Amino acid sequence: MSANPAAQTRSTAPPLSLPRLLTGQKALVTGANSGIGRAVAIAMGQAGADVIINYVSGDEAAQAAVEEIRQGGSKAIACKADVSSETEVAAMFRQIVEEFGSLDILVNNAGLQRDAHFEAMTLEQWNTVIGINLTGQFLCAREAIRLFERQGVVPQVSCAAGKIICMSSVHQEIPWAGHANYASSKGGIKLLMESLAQEVAPKRIRVNAIAPGAIRTPINTTAWSTQSAYDALMTLVPYGRIGEPEDIARVAVWLASDLSDYVLGTTIFVDGGMTLYPGFATGG
Ligand code: NAD
Repeated sequence: MSANPAAQTRSTAPPLSLPRLLTGQKALVTGANSGIGRAVAIAMGQAGADVIINYVSGDEAAQAAVEEIRQGGSKAIACKADVSSETEVAAMFRQIVEEFGSLDILVNNAGLQRDAHFEAMTLEQWNTVIGINLTGQFLCAREAIRLFERQGVVPQVSCAAGKIICMSSVHQEIPWAGHANYASSKGGIKLLMESLAQEVAPKRIRVNAIAPGAIRTPINTTAWSTQSAYDALMTLVPYGRIGEPEDIARVAVWLASDLSDYVLGTTIFVDGGMTLYPGFATGG
């Protein structure tokens, strides 16, 4: 097998079918027409949930994800909204209530990078990343919490009144030169998630995060699409393969299900060991 994922047409994650852990639940996944969000949305559908595909551009890709979920027997709709806009997020949640009646799971996934050396970083680059990656998670979580509080626990559906999964990154821990805006947004997500988890736990709302390592998606093509880039990346990944969107999606399904009912305020690192300081395996 070639090590270079650019030459791979199939996922390098193990092929597995998902148990139907989310039957009867409704899930909103932001940024769900690409990469990790798409895989999470499809996995939630396979696990039995009805799914709202949020996206900001790319109507066709959003519709394709909707069709794939419907073919598996779950309901799905696409909902266009910029997660950094308070009015668009509020309108999205109104649409969800109108079309689905309720919501059980929010996956705060939408995110991007606008990389620059610090001295050259523009305020626009800073504000765009913080606005979408961090403020976007605040706005969606706030609407979801309001909805979960109104609904309360519905025992036939789930032990919890609602679940929020925040997509963070290993860069909530690992400093990243040339990406200060991105690392700041992910560090912010860590304490947003933990503070919110503490605040809403008594209402039986569970808030957790996933911190992916290097996952093969369009956000980081330059890190894996040539053999030399892939080899350099693998010096940072003890497990010796790139992560696939499915690796994240399977953890998200578990975190959203009652199997993880006593798990809250936790970040699960899904990174092939990237945060194990691999440089110390042979030195230090
Ligand atoms: P991606 O570029 O494939 O997907 C990002 C999604 O977010 C796209 O659907 C995009 O349209 C959407 N989006 C961007 N701005 C938006 C906005 N204003 N409103 C709504 N949606 C918006 O990248 P990905 O790798 O799938 O990234 C998903 C999440 O995972 C991000 O939060 C990213 O920071 C995180 N992450 C990715 C990796 C990785 O290696 N791929 C590692 C760590 C964390």
